[in-house]
Amino acid sequence: MNQIFVISTRIARAMNVPYNINGVITKESDKAVYVKGNGIIPKDGRCARCGRKLTHPGSKLLGIGPECLGSWVTRDVILETLTEDQVKTIRDEVEAVKVDQWIPKSIIKNFAEIDFSKKVVEDGKTVVKEVFKKVSLVRSAKDDMNYLKIEFSFDRETLQNVKTLPIRKYSPENKAWYAPANTKILDMLKGFGFDILFSIN
Ligand SMILES: [Zn+2]
Repeated sequence: MNQIFVISTRIARAMNVPYNINGVITKESDKAVYVKGNGIIPKDGRCARCGRKLTHPGSKLLGIGPECLGSWVTRDVILETLTEDQVKTIRDEVEAVKVDQWIPKSIIKNFAEIDFSKKVVEDGKTVVKEVFKKVSLVRSAKDDMNYLKIEFSFDRETLQNVKTLPIRKYSPENKAWYAPANTKILDMLKGFGFDILFSIN
């Protein structure tokens, strides 16, 4: 199954791959996963190569900053006069950067499954629904701390379970619960059947 891997930007630059990767794990050891896939452009307005926040409107369209552009795309472009074709070509070229290598688990910040759709039977009919219970790790810009982001497709039992966490907060804006990133809470979530979508060093 394809997953999105977010790896440390320092290592991504050293490996010369985008720090967001869409790939499949083909082998796994205790310390690393072998990933085959390709780069993807981050959706949060950061540079696909170095992870820095993009400021120029042209760079935002491309999803990569001017200093990093030359690493993968040779074409000279003028950010002020980008055509739709240029934007598409460059984005495609960045997303064509191949990843085919071992990646240490310790540098993977977050990996999330893309496809949670499952066939379920409802009122005697088979329908495809997004069914998931997932926990990812997010960093808060407010206090620079890691938090667990808890998301699930609605079911009453899971909701009751999440409400038993000693500390948790619901964000209606993100449709997610947040809790401190500690092993006690993580173990509780595992017990509730959540998929943990990140590795801890
Ligand atoms: Zn950059």
